[in-house]
Amino acid sequence: MATSASPSIVWFRKDLRLEDNPAFFNAVKKGPVVPVFLWSPNEEDYSTGSASKVWLYYSLLSLKKQLESYGLNLIIRKGDSLKNLLEITASISAKVVYSNKRYEPSSIKKDQEIASKLKDIGLEYKTFNGNLIIDPEVVLNKSNLPFKVFSPFWKKCLSVAEPSKPLPIPNKIISIEKKIKSLEIRDLNLREKEQWALKINNYWDFNNGFAQKKINSFLENNFNGYCETRNFPSIDGTSKLSPYLHYGQISPNQIFYELSKSGHENWKSSQFLAEIGWREFGYYLMFHFPNTINEPLRNEFNKFPWIKNDLLFESWKKGITGYPLVDAGMRELWETGWMHNRVRMVVASFLVKHLLIDWRKGADWFWDTLVDADLASNTLGWQWSAGCGADSAPYFRIFNPTTQAEKFDSDGNYIRRWIPELKDFKAPNIFQPHKYKNELFFNTSYPDPIVDHSESRKKALLAYGEIKK
Ligand SMILES: Cc1cc2nc3c(=O)[nH]c(=O)nc-3n(C[C@H](O)[C@H](O)[C@H](O)COP(=O)(O)OP(=O)(O)OC[C@H]3O[C@@H](n4cnc5c(N)ncnc54)[C@H](O)[C@@H]3O)c2cc1C
Repeated sequence: MATSASPSIVWFRKDLRLEDNPAFFNAVKKGPVVPVFLWSPNEEDYSTGSASKVWLYYSLLSLKKQLESYGLNLIIRKGDSLKNLLEITASISAKVVYSNKRYEPSSIKKDQEIASKLKDIGLEYKTFNGNLIIDPEVVLNKSNLPFKVFSPFWKKCLSVAEPSKPLPIPNKIISIEKKIKSLEIRDLNLREKEQWALKINNYWDFNNGFAQKKINSFLENNFNGYCETRNFPSIDGTSKLSPYLHYGQISPNQIFYELSKSGHENWKSSQFLAEIGWREFGYYLMFHFPNTINEPLRNEFNKFPWIKNDLLFESWKKGITGYPLVDAGMRELWETGWMHNRVRMVVASFLVKHLLIDWRKGADWFWDTLVDADLASNTLGWQWSAGCGADSAPYFRIFNPTTQAEKFDSDGNYIRRWIPELKDFKAPNIFQPHKYKNELFFNTSYPDPIVDHSESRKKALLAYGEIKK
């Protein structure tokens, strides 16, 4: 339905969905709407990574199609977001811009600037919480300070947050007749690395609606065993919802709500909900300690004697370290844009403790190659692994990548899947192939370990000793 009444703008950002979208819902309730997406990589703390851009490309296509089915045309622009919003509001005499909040430091700053500029010219900027279960401002400890430990943080969250029935897509959606200048999605050059984009495309269904199906099937088939199976990378035991959550194709509230209605008795204390809680914790820490996106939360780590070694770093990136679980993870990442959480912990620990390479280098590589690259969760994961964040694994606890493989990939299925050079190896030889590769049957081009575990462990502990002086 089209109208000539004064419309509002709905600015889609990390909320590329129509269901349970408070900005969209509230704007539509008020009258005609114009949906807008603005591509402003220069306004991000870190410009969007390559894999994430591919995801964005496909999820935008899906959103555009969904909007069209309601008679709405997604307006796409690039460049300065404020300038674009001012131009669009002026061209259609819009009085209000609706959006769901973002929590990255640069977005918070930009939002303040936008709110103030719009106010100066008599317009309103209305923002909502559409991407977290609970706004980070709301949760503080007894001393009115932010929590730095997960368990009390999450306990407090669960004591105040209730799942709410997801907002529906309103029945009556009104568009406007006036044509507005817009780019096409392809003009944003989100698929610059075409071959890679095609490869990732084989592993994912980017469509809106898929995440909802996925959570339903996960709750039915995987939820009960999740506590156990989530640790085994060869098993499809986790939800793989992370990229959908990152781009807001599903809201955490939708997951919270589905869980509460799933009939599982222990849903509130479940490990799965706690993982959604870790996502919240990442956003919470980023909000209260914005400097941690590139600095350690624990100050003493500023003195850590990280080493610079491009050769070792390249071996890690390419998955040729000679440690099969590490290499399988890095190759899974390169092939699919995703890596299992257990393996993320192992490869991150290997980089910062065995190779003594700065966690920020690893975070940058993940940022570029993960389809779920997310500033809050990536910072949390890397600082946790390096021992320099809130509630982190202590630096002196050093994962042994071989015993991790023996424990979590005991039959070697995950390793064989991602390392074709080891396809003829069986457990336990597959965990230390260098010891067997000269035997006739085990002829392989797989590399020897680039560092020795015990030696590296000693060096890591010495380096850690430096910052405690
Ligand atoms: C070094 C490192 C870097 C990471 N970088 C990212 C990142 O950039 N983006 C990202 O989304 N996750 C990141 N994680 C967290 C975690 O690995 C992924 O969220 C998880 O593997 C996604 O798979 P899933 O959706 O199947 O998770 P599930 O096990 O099904 O969990 C459900 C959801 O809970 C959230 N979640 C689960 N585990 C964590 C966690 N440890 N921290 C924060 N949220 C979590 C995710 O949103 C996930 O989709 C990182 C972890 C580490 C150790």
